[in-house]
Amino acid sequence: MTVIYVDNNATTKVAPEVLEAMLPYFSDQYGNPSSMHSFGGNVAGAIKAARENVANLIGATPGEIVFTSCGTESDGTAIRAAIESYPDKKHIVTSRVEHPAIKNLYESLSKKGYRTTFVPVDGMGRLDMDFLYDSLSEDTAVVSLMWGNNETGVVFPIEEISREVKSRGILFHTDAVQAVGKIPINVGDTGVDMLSLSGHKFHAPKGIGALYIRKGTKFSPFMIGGHQESGRRGGTENTAAIIGIGKAAGLASEHLKKDGYGNVSRLRDKLEHALLEKVPNAMVNGDTNNRLPNTTSIAFEYVEGEAILLMMNEHGICASSGSACTSGSLEPSHVLRAMGVPFTAAHGSIRFSLSRYNTEDEIDVIIETLPPIIERLRELSPFWKKAMEG
Ligand code: PLP
Repeated sequence: MTVIYVDNNATTKVAPEVLEAMLPYFSDQYGNPSSMHSFGGNVAGAIKAARENVANLIGATPGEIVFTSCGTESDGTAIRAAIESYPDKKHIVTSRVEHPAIKNLYESLSKKGYRTTFVPVDGMGRLDMDFLYDSLSEDTAVVSLMWGNNETGVVFPIEEISREVKSRGILFHTDAVQAVGKIPINVGDTGVDMLSLSGHKFHAPKGIGALYIRKGTKFSPFMIGGHQESGRRGGTENTAAIIGIGKAAGLASEHLKKDGYGNVSRLRDKLEHALLEKVPNAMVNGDTNNRLPNTTSIAFEYVEGEAILLMMNEHGICASSGSACTSGSLEPSHVLRAMGVPFTAAHGSIRFSLSRYNTEDEIDVIIETLPPIIERLRELSPFWKKAMEG
């Protein structure tokens, strides 16, 4: 059975060009980039080029990029560095819809005595800006807000928030793991102090991420060890993966310049419109005016998301019922709960996240396959029957 993969916010396919660029670093090019000899020096040169590509993708300078193992490490490093740099400040701020990489870290810091503010969102997933600004004080060490939401795709106005937070002398971090490579980002324009990204969300392999640290930002490393990454993250470099993320960043810059994700958003919109038209009691979760171009979260009322996923799976269609890390539990997602999505809709919500590898034919297959699945599940659903009677 052919696979139709529309779960790209969970992870993406490694681009063939990326794999090709990486292969020599698993075989012939095995030198240690820290070595004095030129065999290692060649590898250091390739890492330098990769760092430049990643920096270019977000408008940074190469010296502001630190390679990490993933988005989670980048997030954790940023927040821990912030609170270590300002040890007298005991207040930290984030939103109620963050990825567990931030949410669970904040909850753990809250148990260690930090006062934490989780800023609410409205029914469309938009941040309550007044609540955010009112919460800030001289005691606030860091504000961390995601750029694009992994479940709904809703984009926060990071430039505006960053300007305001910075004007109050507070450190600002953004988890841009879902945004990088999908929308144009220029850290120069935004003024953010730190930004997290992750390779496997834009066609590099898993196990490689990066943290942007604005020049001059106070920082202390999470991984203390050798002098790698200019002393900001010890440990011998994951060379092949760094070459991979460099190549993927170069490709992402090219694609963004060429059509700015235009074809991906066209296919996403086609899928969304067709499903809303063909399936009664279906609605989009989140603000459709400010969204990542590849994501749609659609609530099919009165059915179980897990049942929909299983039946789509039989047709080779891979989607998700929540974030990759929370699916597997039957709790409705914390993001949809924070938005106040009714229980009957949150439970039947499916996230479709596309990439540049999706084709029109694949979208047509989903449009044909999914409506009868929902119809069949609703015939079995006592909630649907009750809702239709009442
Ligand atoms: N932040 C967001 C918004 C994400 O979507 C993810 C992964 O889904 C992460 C952080 C964690 O990234 P990684 O899987 O590279 O640790």
